[in-house]
Amino acid sequence: MDQSTNECSHVGMPDLVSIPMGTEMPGFEELRRFRDHGEPYWWLWAGECPACGQRWLVAQEERVNDVVVMRRLDEPETTRLIDDGIWPDDFDSYERLIRISQQVQRFRFGNPDEQLRDVIDLANARPGISVSDLADLLNLDKAAALTLSKKAVSEHGAQVALSA
Ligand SMILES: [Zn+2]
Repeated sequence: MDQSTNECSHVGMPDLVSIPMGTEMPGFEELRRFRDHGEPYWWLWAGECPACGQRWLVAQEERVNDVVVMRRLDEPETTRLIDDGIWPDDFDSYERLIRISQQVQRFRFGNPDEQLRDVIDLANARPGISVSDLADLLNLDKAAALTLSKKAVSEHGAQVALSA
């Protein structure tokens, strides 16, 4: 295992890392996907490094800030995942994932339709979410977040606290 440090970046990495998406993504680009979580957690997968054999839980926050968040899986967690299909719940919430990714960088991707989709998804995951929380999560100004929230409420039945 001595040469593994030359082939990948995982040895000595902290258990939890956040990597901005880009051309160079050491630690991420070496991973080979071996499981997809699938709906409703479409952003989650598990990868293995062919060089060091480590397994990582990978969450791709590519809707808002374009950041990959990874946590190292230990042996029991990997066994549970492969044998029983039980996933660690670290990144089950997209809202929590955005909170982690925005500590790395903040962007606003997407057109108004995609922003509306994000408002609806976040409100469905946490009914009663406030407009200011949505603005902060999606890197929108308050007026834009309010406009999208009103549309989400009136046309899609989303539960947003419009007065907050
Ligand atoms: Zn590795």
